[in-house]
Amino acid sequence: PRSERLAVVTGGNKGVGYFAAQQLLGAGLQVVIACRSEALAKEAAARLGCEYELLDISHSPSIEAFAKTLESKYGRLDVLVNNAAIAFKASDPTPFAGQTGPTLKTNFFGTAELTDRLLPLLRASAASGGQPRLVNVASMAGALRQVSPQLQQQFSSPALDRAGLDALVRKFAADVRAGRHKQEGWGNSNYGFSKLAVIAYTKLVAREEGTGMRVNACCPGYCKTDMSNNRGGQSPEVGARNAVLLALLPDSGPSGAFFQNEANSAW
Ligand code: NDP
Repeated sequence: PRSERLAVVTGGNKGVGYFAAQQLLGAGLQVVIACRSEALAKEAAARLGCEYELLDISHSPSIEAFAKTLESKYGRLDVLVNNAAIAFKASDPTPFAGQTGPTLKTNFFGTAELTDRLLPLLRASAASGGQPRLVNVASMAGALRQVSPQLQQQFSSPALDRAGLDALVRKFAADVRAGRHKQEGWGNSNYGFSKLAVIAYTKLVAREEGTGMRVNACCPGYCKTDMSNNRGGQSPEVGARNAVLLALLPDSGPSGAFFQNEANSAW
């Protein structure tokens, strides 16, 4: 018989990712938390009773090394929960334009690079009956309405392809650098834009993979974690249920959807 389903949760050492890992373990999956700090990963994995591997999604060589480890040590992947992300604090003195590069690098480019590198493993899961699921933890901050109607149309177009999405993301960064992002119809949040791009990417991958994989994005709600300076009104344990629901979807479940409050929701 096939071994239990294997789930990877990025940034599983704390916050929403930690509880997503805990709930997936509770559902009987084998879980690997993929973290950038060995000390934090080791400690969290011991508390969870799961495995950990090193991964910094903002660093291509780390993504490559992690993928090689998954292939050689585990030989399979059924569920990828892209949870790791950063958000500059409101008190951070880095100017808006200085936050654009690092925010996009981790939240969008890193998430997409890791996913693209691991898609072959997820496709192989389908071939062996493993019910592959890709879950991108985005945010309600990634709402489409932050950009102009024309950009909304471009991002939500079913014809948007990888080159098109990449060009739009790079145009946002260039417009910020040139100080004209407002005139060009962009919103005023690097973090919000990075999550909008993650949702667009989710829908694009869902289209590419068709019925063989369930590919969805979610918002955990405003959660009490380090990212929110422990301000959110929702516990990360409850917020994590959105990602877990999508990780455990039946084959009849949606693909290319955006969930919040544990329900399919408008982007
Ligand atoms: P936390 O800041 O508590 O946790 C973020 C996790 O991501 C940490 O494990 C962190 O590692 C990890 N991480 C950050 N950068 C990298 C990287 N380059 N490589 C690997 N891991 C990385 O945040 P939350 O738990 O609140 O957030 C989880 C997800 O939920 C994020 O995608 C966030 O955008 C989203 N979200 C959160 C909301 C909230 O209210 N909290 C609201 C909406 C969305 P380390 O511990 O080493 O820093």
